[in-house]
Amino acid sequence: MDIKGFRAALGDIPVIDDPKAVQLRSRDYYWYSPILKRQLDHVTADLVVSPRTQDEVAEVLAAAFHHKVPLTPRGAGTGNYGQAMPLSGGALLDLMSLNRVLHLQSDRVRAEAGIRLERLDRHLRAEVGSELRFFPSTNKLASLGGFIAGGSGGVGSVRWGGLRNIGNILGLKVITCEASPRVLELEGADILKVAHAYGTNGVIVEAEMPLAPAYDWVDMIVGFDDFLDACRFAQVVAQQDGLLVKEVAPVAAPVPTQYFTHHKPWLKDGQSVVLLMVAPVAVPSVEVLIAHHGGDLRLRYDKLDEAERKGLPPVYELAWNHTTLRAIKIDPTITYLQTQYPTFEHLEKMWRMLGDEMPMHLEMGRFDGTVVFSGLPLVRFTTEERLEEIMRLHEENGCLVFNPHRYTLEEGGMKKSDQVQLAFKKEADPSGILNPGKMIAWDDPDFDFDAGHVYTFAGLDNVGRR
Ligand SMILES: Cc1cc2nc3c(=O)[nH]c(=O)nc-3n(C[C@H](O)[C@H](O)[C@H](O)COP(=O)(O)OP(=O)(O)OC[C@H]3O[C@@H](n4cnc5c(N)ncnc54)[C@H](O)[C@@H]3O)c2cc1C
Repeated sequence: MDIKGFRAALGDIPVIDDPKAVQLRSRDYYWYSPILKRQLDHVTADLVVSPRTQDEVAEVLAAAFHHKVPLTPRGAGTGNYGQAMPLSGGALLDLMSLNRVLHLQSDRVRAEAGIRLERLDRHLRAEVGSELRFFPSTNKLASLGGFIAGGSGGVGSVRWGGLRNIGNILGLKVITCEASPRVLELEGADILKVAHAYGTNGVIVEAEMPLAPAYDWVDMIVGFDDFLDACRFAQVVAQQDGLLVKEVAPVAAPVPTQYFTHHKPWLKDGQSVVLLMVAPVAVPSVEVLIAHHGGDLRLRYDKLDEAERKGLPPVYELAWNHTTLRAIKIDPTITYLQTQYPTFEHLEKMWRMLGDEMPMHLEMGRFDGTVVFSGLPLVRFTTEERLEEIMRLHEENGCLVFNPHRYTLEEGGMKKSDQVQLAFKKEADPSGILNPGKMIAWDDPDFDFDAGHVYTFAGLDNVGRR
């Protein structure tokens, strides 16, 4: 890598090279995982480059290609698996200056990749009365491009499914990493070449997203003495075709009273809760279901006065990976898992088996028309061996685990290589400049995913230790 030559080729494109500032930006939320923390703590880039326009992105890509400098795209750095961490050093490609809304109508928007999702949503609401179908609970910070390249679903997925479901991304504009970078417009099935590829095979500079009508969602928290009753209620609410809801998440006791400190005045010791976002038109019907299921409506945000609302985080910031964040802030030994429970019986079995070692947190999702229990359970961490054992117990009992303690695409996902994404990388990043170490299929095509080994990227030995 010729970092000096690279830097010289950047001309007046803004660069940060103060080691402390660079190291700060070389991190994401990898420290959620004690395993990733051990493996990645020392990782740092050599510099950060922040192009201001799409043309400048192409210039940076050409310079990186020419000078063989590894380049890791970065949005807001809120990923949980070290996705945006430069495992081979080199340069971080900060895309947050690309933040224009380019085209807008009530059912779709085209915007640049670095726009923050909340800012985009505010703009949509004000201009055309629409909103993004779903967003990660990091809405306030996360970028559109980072969500597409690193995220999967979120608040709204109970109705609209995930990012990889056809129809949830309409188009992507991608720049390749070659001697003369090409600009490609991806549509239809081609979108999957780059979506959720961790920026390993092209830099997303624009995305076109479908929209839904905007609502003044009503945040609600409902208490239940029995966690399984909370789950039954959540399942019924999520399954009702006539109910417009954006978020349904059961969280087992004692998590709410232990970790949802801002909401403590409204919570009751020993109760599990269901977190809800409900369209105003659906609130009376949801209240009928709450009564029917013996729920205890603890909090309705629209009933709060101004003083009570002040400083109270929205319900979605108790959900998704914010549940984990709130727990870690109070007990840093806590970590988490990403699971899926095919049926209520699977869920009940794992919940009873692991008890308070794995306080349960679920997100109701909709995938291929079916409501599913997606899990983001907390884990009271003891050892890496026990954490692996808990994952094994899930799999032995027919549950799915998307391992959040791995930094590669494959090990954190379907545990097999994605040939479509690999083929696109060969085309769009033939020298393997983009985000090295994240795609096993590129680094080690013969890696045996069934052999039970954990992949270790060789470049990790050198990074940050030069
Ligand atoms: C508290 C908390 C809550 C979260 N909740 C959710 C949730 O509800 N749903 C969810 O899916 N995720 C969630 N996440 C994970 C993360 O927030 C999301 O993945 C988020 O959308 C990432 O956006 P970002 O801009 O921070 O991306 P980054 O972390 O900066 O990047 C993510 C990945 O995308 C790549 N990348 C970034 N921009 C581009 C680009 N323009 N082109 C190509 N590659 C790019 C990076 O290299 C990296 O691999 C959560 C994380 C935290 C810490």
